[in-house]
Amino acid sequence: MSDPIALISNIRSDDEASYLSALASAMPAENVVLFRQMSAEQRARVQIAIVANPDPANVAALPNLVWVQSLWAGVEQLVTRLVADGPPIVRMIDPEMSRTMAEAVLAWTYYLQRDMPAYLRQQRQGLWHQYVYRKPSTLTVGILGLGSLGTAAAVRLGEAGFKVAGWSRSAKRLPGVQTFSNDDGLITMLRMSDIVVCLVPLTAQTHGLLHAALLSVMKPGAGLINFARGPVVVTDDLLAALDSGHLSHAVLDVFDEEPLAPDARLWQHPQVSVLPHISAPTDFETAAAVIAVNVGAYRANGALPCSVDLVLGY
Ligand code: NAP
Repeated sequence: MSDPIALISNIRSDDEASYLSALASAMPAENVVLFRQMSAEQRARVQIAIVANPDPANVAALPNLVWVQSLWAGVEQLVTRLVADGPPIVRMIDPEMSRTMAEAVLAWTYYLQRDMPAYLRQQRQGLWHQYVYRKPSTLTVGILGLGSLGTAAAVRLGEAGFKVAGWSRSAKRLPGVQTFSNDDGLITMLRMSDIVVCLVPLTAQTHGLLHAALLSVMKPGAGLINFARGPVVVTDDLLAALDSGHLSHAVLDVFDEEPLAPDARLWQHPQVSVLPHISAPTDFETAAAVIAVNVGAYRANGALPCSVDLVLGY
């Protein structure tokens, strides 16, 4: 049997047990061991660590570590908390996660397109008022970030008949998607979008990306869906844009602090839907299968999977 693989996590114990079991099934020839249960001799032999919200000191306690496999797609905490000259970090790129995220984006886009927040408010007031139906083909959904998740969401929205625009750091071509890059492109896309979906990673460049000035260029009455990371959107500026009526509604799955504090204003705001970070959870089985492929290639010929650019932060 190969050198053990360390699982270093700070997550719910039932999730940890599910990951262990899925990894054992996907890689029967490997020995995946919880870091805290490893002997000093085992820790000294570890080349691969699979991590979810790890204590950086535990990662640093593996002297022969060659690479780190994240169980999550977002790696901003790993990038900022692990040492800069540490081993390469491989993030989770799982087609099933992309499918789940695309499904969530479509579901909550429909929520806004079909005026469900307004009908929910009306029901509470006993009001009978019909809004004019808006066909998907009359609405533009602008996606910030055209990576694994943003691209899958763009395809799904296009299949559902929405006009789709997308913005990314590097210029991109995607069939059926009007693509933009750079600052001017961002403003153009925000101006034309009825619904803006945030799917950029949290980096030094995207922290506070959607602030008051940029929210103000969004179409009057537009909606916002943030499925990326809380700090990409400046919460106070978003609340001001909602309070003023400039934006109609925000669907938020991610927050500056999670869980969202019980006294946070967002909970009670009539134009905000709060979700507890559920838009695209990692699937134990498919994630384990992705990791098995990465580990198999490394064991076969030392090939490292594509890793995070520590300068760009994603
Ligand atoms: P990804 O494949 O790395 O794609 C990131 C996209 O964002 C790329 O298109 C990239 O541009 C673009 N981007 C990055 N920095 C930018 C910048 N400064 N300006 C403009 N565009 C920029 O990431 P992913 O797998 O799609 O995941 C995106 C994020 O979703 C994750 O980082 C994570 O935070 C979040 N997420 C949330 C959940 C949830 O349940 N809420 C689940 C999974 C992931 P290029 O194409 O030019 O590189």
